[in-house]
Amino acid sequence: PVLGRFPDFPHEQVTFCQDPETGLRAIIAIHDSTLGPAVGGTRFHPYATEAEALTDVLRLSRGMTYKNAVAGLPCGGAKAVIIGDPDTIKSEALLETYGRFVQSLGGRYVTAGDVGISAADLDVIGRGTDHVLGRTTSAGGYGDSGPMTAYGAFHALRAAAAARWGTADLAGRTVGVEGLGKVGYELVRLLVEAGATVTAADISAPARERVRRELPAVLLAERVIDAPVDIYAPCALGATLTSDSIPTIRAAVICGAANNQLATPDVEEQLAERGILWVPDFVASAGGVTTGCAEYRRIPLEEVPGQVERIFDTTTEVLDLARRQGILPGAAAEDLAHTRIQQARAGLKPG
Ligand code: NAD
Repeated sequence: PVLGRFPDFPHEQVTFCQDPETGLRAIIAIHDSTLGPAVGGTRFHPYATEAEALTDVLRLSRGMTYKNAVAGLPCGGAKAVIIGDPDTIKSEALLETYGRFVQSLGGRYVTAGDVGISAADLDVIGRGTDHVLGRTTSAGGYGDSGPMTAYGAFHALRAAAAARWGTADLAGRTVGVEGLGKVGYELVRLLVEAGATVTAADISAPARERVRRELPAVLLAERVIDAPVDIYAPCALGATLTSDSIPTIRAAVICGAANNQLATPDVEEQLAERGILWVPDFVASAGGVTTGCAEYRRIPLEEVPGQVERIFDTTTEVLDLARRQGILPGAAAEDLAHTRIQQARAGLKPG
């Protein structure tokens, strides 16, 4: 399967960008562009080493290929990382220079936001490139993708509830939401609106305070991973599902937007053994990139929620496929992504 590819680096193209004047050091990884221009956010993070940054960007860009393919988007997968502490080295000059590097790839890579890069930062990056999504609405973009990511995760959660309990209605269900940031806060709001009983946790006092003030029905807890809830929704950082944490989980369903929830791929088996239904993160969290693709294709903003709602059907399809074939949901989602990419490749072949 790696014929014609470097076995350890099956990515299409990896570009190292540096500009000593502004202190910019970035890596852009295009994993696969079979389905279209490769779309994925830029992460600004103080990686300890270049090797750590490279590992992260290679892993994240591969994840974007699967996320975009399984969501049925006409976009390939890519990701970029800027190395350094955004609180100290981020400057307009650095971001604009980074934008010019993105521009130099001629549209093969289209960037968006991620951890450490806000919609306002994307406005600045956009001074250097046309290939940028998620700028502020005043700058002509579709704005922060957090709310649409939450909306997609909400529909994934409804589909998982239907698969588990025979009804997508979340009224009366208990849900533990971990992380009350851009995605988690909005997911909690949607769940409360749907009549669910929500317990939530966040390590940040201001994030908890906002919920206490604006959503008083929500019960705030130290942690939710082992809470007595029907559904556990990870919306903070990834890797909370470990061989140590899984035995403590009391939820019957796990579905959230946090990227890379499995600490290692093998722990998914452990979830299945415990009878816990897990919705692969790259299926549940596609609302943000769906918004990005809509922006790219100039689909009107008001049509975006309808597109994001399709995550309900995708989740149902993945869970059905897993059940019918007796495989794990992660494998089912990857199969679906592979099929879409292979079909597109076959279509691309002359004759
Ligand atoms: P964010 O930075 O706005 O919020 C994350 C929140 O998690 C913060 O409030 C932080 O205090 C909290 N947190 C950190 N560690 C925690 C812990 N151990 N326990 C409880 N809370 C903790 O990020 P976001 O944009 O809301 O993204 C949340 C997750 O969803 C991330 O994993 C991100 O990669 C993923 N995701 C986000 C988007 C998007 O559009 N924003 C799209 C796809 C996936």
